[in-house]
Amino acid sequence: MKQATGLKKKAIHISARALQLTNGLPFKAVYGGIGHILMFHRVLPRSKEMRLWPNAYLEVTPEFVEDVIKYFQKLKYKFPALDELTGTKSPPKPFVLFTFDDGYKDNLTFALPLMKKYNVPFAIYITTNFPDRKAILWWDALEKKILNQDKINFSFNGQKYEFTAYTLAEKERLFELLHNQIQTTPATKKTELLKSIFTTEELSEPLHTVLSWDEIKQLANEQLVTIGAHTVSHPRLSQLSNEQAEQEITQSIKLIEQHTGKKIKHFAYPFGDTQSFGQREINILKLNNIQTATTTLSKNITRQSLKYPLTLPRIAVGMSMTEDTFDLIRYGVIPMIRNRGRR
Ligand SMILES: [Zn+2]
Repeated sequence: MKQATGLKKKAIHISARALQLTNGLPFKAVYGGIGHILMFHRVLPRSKEMRLWPNAYLEVTPEFVEDVIKYFQKLKYKFPALDELTGTKSPPKPFVLFTFDDGYKDNLTFALPLMKKYNVPFAIYITTNFPDRKAILWWDALEKKILNQDKINFSFNGQKYEFTAYTLAEKERLFELLHNQIQTTPATKKTELLKSIFTTEELSEPLHTVLSWDEIKQLANEQLVTIGAHTVSHPRLSQLSNEQAEQEITQSIKLIEQHTGKKIKHFAYPFGDTQSFGQREINILKLNNIQTATTTLSKNITRQSLKYPLTLPRIAVGMSMTEDTFDLIRYGVIPMIRNRGRR
């Protein structure tokens, strides 16, 4: 991991140094917990091509993941699998658990060899429209299009749009603008908007980055890997009708079970914030005998949170995090700040 630079990192560095002297006390006793579930998406070497930053935050390099493993190894952390978090025996402590969302091919090509090297179990949550080749990874298509073209023209709702972006700064601004536009367009209109901006080829091109069913089966047979479900189409479940929510969850579990021949016992909520799921979703998971479900509520795992295995908190991990950041996560300082003091 990198050394701290910049003002924000300087602040992290100073507070980490102060707390390192007391091994995180007093925060650690209250907010530290007994372990952490980490959330990743893609793992791939840094490309030499130009990138637009809003997409790059879903990616870390293999070297970065290796540094994170070594960091926790040095601190004598245990690396359990998701199955070990529930049941009669309490999990080893302190522990850290690696999870990867959505189902990208690089989880097989780059994450697996690395996790095998260190014998670290990990989970991959699959959105089944990825291997079914029905997903539209429009954010990747958008990045490529803006990087490749200086002019973007399209018509939507009877109106003509024309954009130009020559420099990297202009391209980043345009990416953000169109990203927000697409994301906030209601589902009923979204396909029409996407078809007006992109060609069919442009929309299907990013699918080469996702896992196929054969690859998912291969991963499911690896001893270190737990495959979990992550819905069919990655919606905000809370916004769906009862039938739709039921179908998104149950169908994704069934499909993965059919393709892997293994019982699916773990789930991650798409988006994962408190607005994206509720008691209804928890009840559907219970009916499907799901044992753990992870959120993106940024907290450490405590003995108390293990009593609610269908709403486990998770810490999102990005390349900008340093050893100091991880120290502050371990001490519970960053989770405490993110949750405004709530435990
Ligand atoms: Zn996801």
